[in-house]
Amino acid sequence: MTNKLMYFIGNWKMFGDFNSFKIINKINKFNLRNKALSKKIKIILCVPNTLIYPFRKKLKNKFISLGAQNCHYGDVHGPFTGGVSAHMLKKAGTEYIILGHSETRLDGDTNQLIKKKIESSLKQKLKVIFCIGETLKEKNKGKTFSILRKQIKDSITKKFNPKKIIFAYEPVWSIGTNKILKSNDLKKNIKFIKEVCKKNFKIKKSPSVLYGGSVNDKNISFFSSIKEIDGFLIGGASQSSKKFIDIIKNYYK
Ligand code: PEP
Repeated sequence: MTNKLMYFIGNWKMFGDFNSFKIINKINKFNLRNKALSKKIKIILCVPNTLIYPFRKKLKNKFISLGAQNCHYGDVHGPFTGGVSAHMLKKAGTEYIILGHSETRLDGDTNQLIKKKIESSLKQKLKVIFCIGETLKEKNKGKTFSILRKQIKDSITKKFNPKKIIFAYEPVWSIGTNKILKSNDLKKNIKFIKEVCKKNFKIKKSPSVLYGGSVNDKNISFFSSIKEIDGFLIGGASQSSKKFIDIIKNYYK
């Protein structure tokens, strides 16, 4: 474990309604009770688009930030039925946005489309949580590195500001399955992503690289020993304030 700011990012996916603000209230209370700890961590909750504006209005303090989970590639407005642009999400009050999640890749997001979405989000001054990861088939064929490199190279240009992009390594086979990597593989893959990022941006210090995939309050202690990880993207377990808080508590135990 290091002294770096650790990210704990919740991805609520297609869950939550106006009452779900109580989850945020409870996490916020935990932060207020644990001021020293809250200075070491950054909590971001990526909620459905319908909740960004109402939650933004209620969120009076700066402990918890709001994120969206996807956007249309179109810049501001356009003839895209059902589309929501990064500009609209910014206006609604989001600060962060998840892009390239494997669930949206399954829905048709390509590396090129994701690149356009990142470009458009950065233009709107949103911070991007960029997800990458290999499928089980790719892992079994020994293609993990080439897939990760391609996902980064095809979606991230040197012109993007590395300080505005957080990378999230999410092996597709680990999402929602309770399957996690062996410690050595996880270290190796995170280090690899950091090296590719450094080369890509020609910088000495890599942007933050998070891990995501079946993180819960029980297995978080396994991850806390891996110093290469700069934080976590948490899906299912972030829909419960107790589980989310226990993940943070157990990480620092
Ligand atoms: C995710 O959806 O980004 C994720 C990591 O999901 P889960 O934690 O449920 O595996």
